[in-house]
This record gives sequence, C-alpha cells and structure tokens, in this order.
Amino acid sequence: MNNLDFLIPQSLREVWDLYKRFPGVRFIAGGTDMMVKIKNSEEKPTALISLRSIPGLSGIEIGEQTRIGAMTTIGDLINHPQLGDMFPVLIQAVKRLGGPQIRNVATIGGNLCNCSPCADTALPLLVLEARAVLKRSEGSREVPLDEFFLGPGESCLLPGEMLTDIILNKPAPGVRATFKKKGRVRMDLSIVSTAVLLEMEGSTRKCKKARIAAGSVAPTPLRLKKVEELFENAEISEKTLIEAQKLAESSVSPITDIRSTAEYRRRIVGVYVKRAIQELLDF
Ligand SMILES: Cc1cc2nc3c(=O)[nH]c(=O)nc-3n(C[C@H](O)[C@H](O)[C@H](O)COP(=O)(O)OP(=O)(O)OC[C@H]3O[C@@H](n4cnc5c(N)ncnc54)[C@H](O)[C@@H]3O)c2cc1C
Repeated sequence: MNNLDFLIPQSLREVWDLYKRFPGVRFIAGGTDMMVKIKNSEEKPTALISLRSIPGLSGIEIGEQTRIGAMTTIGDLINHPQLGDMFPVLIQAVKRLGGPQIRNVATIGGNLCNCSPCADTALPLLVLEARAVLKRSEGSREVPLDEFFLGPGESCLLPGEMLTDIILNKPAPGVRATFKKKGRVRMDLSIVSTAVLLEMEGSTRKCKKARIAAGSVAPTPLRLKKVEELFENAEISEKTLIEAQKLAESSVSPITDIRSTAEYRRRIVGVYVKRAIQELLDF
C-alpha cells in the first residue's frame, strides 16, 4: 500500500474544497470496506477524506420523520433506545452485520455507499421506503433509496457528492416486517437476504401494502415489485404464497460465486419470501 494523504476536514465546506484540490481523492467513513479495497488494489485513491470530524453527520433524531446521519455507526443504531421500537426490522438486520468490532466503526452511510448487492442495511431501508439526502457544493437533493443503487459499487452519487442523512417516515400502525439472511456461517456476508414488510387490514388476511426486497441476487439490492403487486389489496392465501415464491425466483438474476451458486440463491429467495410472510401472518 502506498502512502496516502489522510485529510480530516471539520466542515462540509472544507470537504468540497479538498475534493477540488485533490483529484482522485475518495471519502472514507469507518473504512471497513475502503481499507480492504485499497489493500486488494480494487481502489487506488490519491488521498482520503475522512468524514468523521464533520459536525452533524452522525446521530439519530426520532419523530414523524426519523433522521439517521450517514456517519452513525451500526453499533449506535443497535444501542439507540427508541430506534428499535419504531423500526424493529432495521435493528434485526444490522445485528447480523459483521461482528462487534466491525459494528463499532462501520457506518450506515458507508454500507449504502459501498453499493454491495449484499449490504445488510439496504434491505430494511428499502422496505421502509427510506430516502437518501445527498449533498454537494452546488446544493442538496433527496432520492428514494430505491433509485440510489445503480450496480455493484455504483450509486447515483455525482462526483464530490456525499450521502448525509437517511430519512424514514413513521410506519403506519399495524405494519409488520422481518429480515432474513443466509450466510455460509452465522457471521458472513449474505448468500441471500430478504426483507418483507406488510400492512394488513386489521386482523384479516387482506393486504393493503407489501414491500419486499432481496439481497445478493442481482447487481444491486432489489425491490421485488412484481411480488409486491401480487399481494397489494389482495387476500393472502396458500395459493398466493406459492405464486409469490415462484415470482420471487423469476424476478432475480443471481450469479454463482465463492459463496453460493445461482441456482441455490434463486431457490432460497423464493423460500425466504414465502417463509417471511407465513411468519408475519402466523400461517
Ligand atoms: C470482517 C468484515 C465483515 C463484514 N460483514 C458485513 C456484513 O455482514 N454485512 C454487510 O452488509 N457488510 C459487511 N461488511 C462490510 C462493511 O463493514 C460495511 O459495508 C460497512 O457498513 C461499511 O461502512 P464504513 O463506514 O466502514 O464504510 P467505508 O469503508 O468508510 O466506505 C465504504 C464506501 O462508501 C463511501 N462512503 C462512505 N461514507 C460515505 C458518505 N457519507 N457519502 C458518500 N460516500 C461515502 C466510501 O468512499 C467507500 O467507497 C464487513 C466487512 C468486514 C471487513
């Protein structure tokens, strides 16, 4: 590894100034993805801009709209006294991200901006319909997380643009959601992961809204919109569950790699979608 300038700006204005002064510079948050990529020569930045000392980039504000700062660590999400009550599926997912050492430094923003198809924060945030606040020197914009991921390692971020916050609306009463992850061992990147959110009409089997996302089965974390449509304003029955399982299998485009085969991933995504709904509805 060559020597790198490690730049520690104290404000956003300073970040953008440094960004212009150091061509080839990259942002670094917790460094748990970036340092591995530099070591493996997958990233060759000329310098690194640490986002750690910039005020306002971390922290959680709970309300009708909840704000999570991009520099909030996974550990801080888990330890927050109210976040888990409002968004249990997010905490369920991040408890499966790495081990304690990783969770203490890895950030939610880094997990999203790394744009891995297996990013564990992405699935709960997709089904919760999170929005990403992006800032650059020219101004800021808000994009649905669904539109953030473009491919492996590729997001809609423009050069010099930074993810600063994740925004979540308060879930409707009665919304239930769950996350499932299959790894080779318990602490591993996912072979397949899913998040399913259902809003039901009272205690009936009539579904008002379904949000379903899958990881490690396509170039990006993916909403399974055809499966969602199958359930919306429909009665959920054994028959629709079998249809959903098949539709989930045909909605994904997995690859074979060191973790698993494409065939197995396709099979498991269908099983997980069906099983998640059965669990949520006590089928
Ligand atoms: C041993 C180990 C186990 C792991 N296990 C898991 C796992 O189980 N599940 C999982 O999902 N991941 C896992 N990871 C991957 C990694 O820990 C997470 O993706 C982590 O959340 C990345 O966050 P970070 O703050 O370390 O990001 P960094 O490495 O600092 O940054 C990642 C990328 O995002 C960019 N970036 C960071 N913050 C911003 C921002 N605010 N705006 C714009 N760009 C930004 C950086 O430039 C870089 O390209 C693991 C990694 C290791 C080393």
